[in-house]
Amino acid sequence: CGIVGYVGDKEAASFLLEGLAKLEYRGYDSAGIAVFDGAKIGVEKSVGRLAALRDKLKGHELKGTMGIGHTRWATHGRPSDVNSHPHTDCSGDFVVVHNGIIENYLTLKEELIENGHSFKSETDTEVVAHLIEEVYNGDFVASVREVLRRVEGSYSLVFMSSKHPGTLIATKQDNPLVIGVGEGENFIASDIPAIIQRTRRTYILNDGELAVITKDSIKISNRQGEPVTKKIFEVNWNA
Ligand code: GLU
Repeated sequence: CGIVGYVGDKEAASFLLEGLAKLEYRGYDSAGIAVFDGAKIGVEKSVGRLAALRDKLKGHELKGTMGIGHTRWATHGRPSDVNSHPHTDCSGDFVVVHNGIIENYLTLKEELIENGHSFKSETDTEVVAHLIEEVYNGDFVASVREVLRRVEGSYSLVFMSSKHPGTLIATKQDNPLVIGVGEGENFIASDIPAIIQRTRRTYILNDGELAVITKDSIKISNRQGEPVTKKIFEVNWNA
């Protein structure tokens, strides 16, 4: 299971696929990516190895300079194309990747269905995509924080929205997440080997921290929303 993210000036998909390949050692049963092309979010995902995802992308590469990717180790819902991440809300404006388990997903799912949301997958993760759609108030960060107040469990999570071009939001609880600091581009990954080809300057997120990431900035805050000043961790080994 692994997570990657990219925001910058280059094609996101090439980093996403390269990064996911570096995370293969963590194990997975399916993979997927979502890329924002400036207007809408395109998603491609597949059960099986990364090669299966690459095959699906042949002839219709997802173009765009912001994206997120995922390798899944299924915990809730069998390995299948539909259960693979990224997961989207009803509108397709929000997309999330998640490693971990949302413990209270059944309760949240029932509430969301009552409020008119229709679910495509059997995963715990999909509630996160619908929940942000449900609580969204125009403020991306505040809406993610509201989602985090409602979910219980373990997670690395990355959120992307077509309503907020150029911004990714990453957060974690009991699962790893690392940010790679580039120049005019930034990276997100579950682990350093995924980003070391692109940058050696990293921030290692702690539980409860939330990072708002654009191509030129990384703003990290704690659970209370207070800014956190972190030291760059410079990777001095080779993957
Ligand atoms: N619980 C989620 C699922 O089953 C995420 C699994 C993972 O960590 O890859 O889809």
